[in-house]
Amino acid sequence: MRLMTKFGGSSLADAAQFKKVKAIVEADESRSFVVVSAPGKRDSNDEKITDLLLQCYDRRESNLSFAPLFMRIRQRFCDIERELGLDVGIESELLSIERAIQNGASSDFVASRGEYLTGLLLAAYLGFGFMDPCELIAFHDDGTYDDETTQRWCQKLDGKKRLVIPGFYGRKRDGSIKTFSRGGSDITGAIIARAVGADVYENWTDVDGFMMADPRIVDSPRIMSVVTYSELRELSYMGAGVLHEDSIFPVRRARIPIHVRNTNKPDAKGTKIVPDGSVDAHGRGSVLTGVAGRSGFTIITVTKDNMHKEVGFGYRLLRVLSHNNISFENCPSGIDTMSIIIDDSFLKGKLDAVISEIRRDCEPNTIEVTSQIALIAAVGKGMVRSVGVSSKLFSALSEAGINVRVINQSSSEMNIIVGVEQRDFKDAVNAVYRAFNP
Ligand code: ASP
Repeated sequence: MRLMTKFGGSSLADAAQFKKVKAIVEADESRSFVVVSAPGKRDSNDEKITDLLLQCYDRRESNLSFAPLFMRIRQRFCDIERELGLDVGIESELLSIERAIQNGASSDFVASRGEYLTGLLLAAYLGFGFMDPCELIAFHDDGTYDDETTQRWCQKLDGKKRLVIPGFYGRKRDGSIKTFSRGGSDITGAIIARAVGADVYENWTDVDGFMMADPRIVDSPRIMSVVTYSELRELSYMGAGVLHEDSIFPVRRARIPIHVRNTNKPDAKGTKIVPDGSVDAHGRGSVLTGVAGRSGFTIITVTKDNMHKEVGFGYRLLRVLSHNNISFENCPSGIDTMSIIIDDSFLKGKLDAVISEIRRDCEPNTIEVTSQIALIAAVGKGMVRSVGVSSKLFSALSEAGINVRVINQSSSEMNIIVGVEQRDFKDAVNAVYRAFNP
C-alpha cells in the first residue's frame, strides 16, 4: 500500500496542528509522500499565511511599508519552529524572503513562500527528506501547467520515499516560480499521487468529508461515505462546493481514489472519491449520493404542430443558440414541444434577439419564456435503475407543495434534474434530501 498524503492549511495552522499531522503520518508507514499547504487560519478572525504574503506584495507594489505585516508572518513560522523544538534556520530563510520582496520579487514567488517554509519545517519535524516542487512541477512560458514535462521531471521520485513536498507551485522553463490558482496544493497532491503510483490520495482537511447537501440549506446533512468521480463532477457542476475539477484530473485519469479526511478527527471515516464502476461505489446502501442545485435559469419552450416529424427542427433551434454564443444546460422535449434551459448569464441582453431568431428560423406555434427557475440535481449512480426512486422524489416534492416546471433524467443513469421556481428552491432541496434521509 502506498499513500500520497496532502495536508491543507488548517491542518498546519500552528504547532499544535503540526503535532496532529505527525501523529497521522506516523500512524501508517505507507504515508511516505506528504504534500503541504501554507498555514491557514487558526480561528475565524485569523489570516492565512498566503493572504499575508500577498498583502506584503501589494504594499510593496504601492510603495508602502510591509514590515509590520511581514512581522506577523515571521512570528507564526518562528513560533512553530520554537514550539516544536526545531532548528531549520527559519529566521534566515525569512530574512532572505523579506529581502526578495524588497527587491521586486514576483507575486507568484511571494505567494509560494508559505508552502516552501511549511515544507522545510514539516520535513524536519517528521525526519523526512525535503524536495522543492521546482524540481517536479513544470509550467509553460505562458504560465499554464505543463503536464508532459511534469511527468518527465517526476520520474525523479522513482525509488524515493519519506519526502515532504510543498504544494501550490512549480517553475517555468526560465526558472521563475509559478503558482497554481488559489487552493492549488490539491493539484500538487494529485500530480504527486499519480507520479508515485499511490493506491490512495489522502486529502486531510478540517471537515469530516463532503456533505450530501449544502448545510446552508439543509440542517446538518449527512456526510457522503463514497462518491464516484462522475457523481462528484455532477454535484460540483450543480453548485456543491467540493474539490475543484483541476485538482482531481491527474488522479481521476489514473483511477486513484481520493480519501478526504479530517485532521482534527482522524478516526472519522471521511469521504472516499472512487473511480466510476469500482466495487466501493456499488456497495453503498443509499441510492442518493447527494443533492445540489443552482438558481438563475430561464426556460424557453417552443411548440409546433408535427414538430416530431419535421427534419432539422432541433438543429435550427439550437443553431440560434450557438449563433448567439449561448450554451444550454438541458433540453427536455415532448412530441411537439422542445424546452431549452439556459443559464441567465448566457442570456444577458440577448433574449429578444434569440426569440425573434427562433420565430424566423423555426416558425413555431408558440414560444413561452419562463424565468427565475432553479435546477436541482438528485445525484446517485444507479438512481435511475432503482425502482421507486423517482416516485419517492416526486411525492416528496408534491407533498411539500412544490410545482415542478421541468424534469430531466439524464441517460447517464446518474441523476434526476428538476426545475422549480426560484422561490421554491430551498424547500425543494430539503424535500429531496429528506425523502432519502428520513
Ligand atoms: N496556500 C495556497 C492558498 O491559500 C494554496 C493552498 O492552500 O492550496 O491558496
